Amino acid sequence: MNIPFVDLHAQYLSIKPQIDRAIATVIAESAFIRGRFVSDFEREFAAAVGASRCVSCANGTDSLYILMRGLGIKPGDEVITSAHSWISSSETISQAGGRVVFCDTDDRTYTIDPKRIEALITPRTVGIIPVHLYGQPADMDPILEIARRRGLWVIEDCAQAHMAQYKGRVVGTMGTAASFSFYPGKNLGAMGDAGCIVTNDNKLADWCELFARHGGKGDHRIEGVNSRLDGLQAAILSAKLPHLAAWTDARRRVAAKYDELLRGVPQVRAPIVAQDRTHVYHLYVVACESRDALQAQLAAAGVSTMLNYPKALPFYPAYAHLGHRPADFPNAFANQGRILSIPLFPEMTSEQQSATVDSIRAFYRRG
Ligand SMILES: *Cc1c(COP(=O)(O)O)cnc(C)c1O
Repeated sequence: MNIPFVDLHAQYLSIKPQIDRAIATVIAESAFIRGRFVSDFEREFAAAVGASRCVSCANGTDSLYILMRGLGIKPGDEVITSAHSWISSSETISQAGGRVVFCDTDDRTYTIDPKRIEALITPRTVGIIPVHLYGQPADMDPILEIARRRGLWVIEDCAQAHMAQYKGRVVGTMGTAASFSFYPGKNLGAMGDAGCIVTNDNKLADWCELFARHGGKGDHRIEGVNSRLDGLQAAILSAKLPHLAAWTDARRRVAAKYDELLRGVPQVRAPIVAQDRTHVYHLYVVACESRDALQAQLAAAGVSTMLNYPKALPFYPAYAHLGHRPADFPNAFANQGRILSIPLFPEMTSEQQSATVDSIRAFYRRG
């Protein structure tokens, strides 16, 4: 049995009439750029998250960059972010003129470790970008407390955690502003690139909208960029949004079954969810022994897996100039060698799950 890592086509087939209708309507109206499909989705997504504003943009990397520009980042300003994430979380800091300051992650949740933030703050620090990695919220209260006390902004990177909750609060509503990605494989995914900014700060939202649309149409008050969600993607996202809750429940069910199946495999540690949080399982990431050999064996058995991410960010060539050593980020460094993302998607069958775990068991039995 070949087990894919995700199955986007299965999701399309499950709501084919709605998607096809959405696409046909946009084409019939030639509403490709801006227009009602984009503004409808912005309104719907803001309401779903529970924030007053959603500013759509071309992807979930632009949204981080645009937000930092909107928050007035200046050359040399320092921004603290997680040492283990997708590179969008850090590359946008440099793009916006800032300096990246990496913070180690928590050993159990893989999210930024709030206990290590304070020591990284200098007079140049302006903000913190916690990442709700794999679908689990970062430990927001201590982060928000530090930010309040030190006068820093907080951008939540919610690209992997649509609708996850921290102490009953939905991600994207706790910080100064938040960034979402609708990359096809994300929990709410378009059929191309898409992203957005979410915030309750109307002035910030207005500035980001202006900046993302060439500084204002017909009245260029500032120089901006071109970062738009297109009408087709907006209509597709509006068709998918009503299904997000059910898909998230399905992800949780698949995860709960994995948790159960893996209980008998001592070499594999299932994801640990902190008491005060809900996990929406964008990825199901286990920590395991002999990771590389296990991954090769699973590939041979037809089970697709991924490494998210094979290295913590400070150890990629792009950050070699920072001169970091493994001891600077002990948890992120240890995790990069043992994490493995195994297949999880809402449409996954229990046969696919059992076959995946059987292959894992077979690997360790063989020793
Ligand atoms: C996917 C992702 C992004 C950005 O997404 P794009 O839409 O692909 O630009 C940012 N941060 C994290 C943590 C992500 O996983």
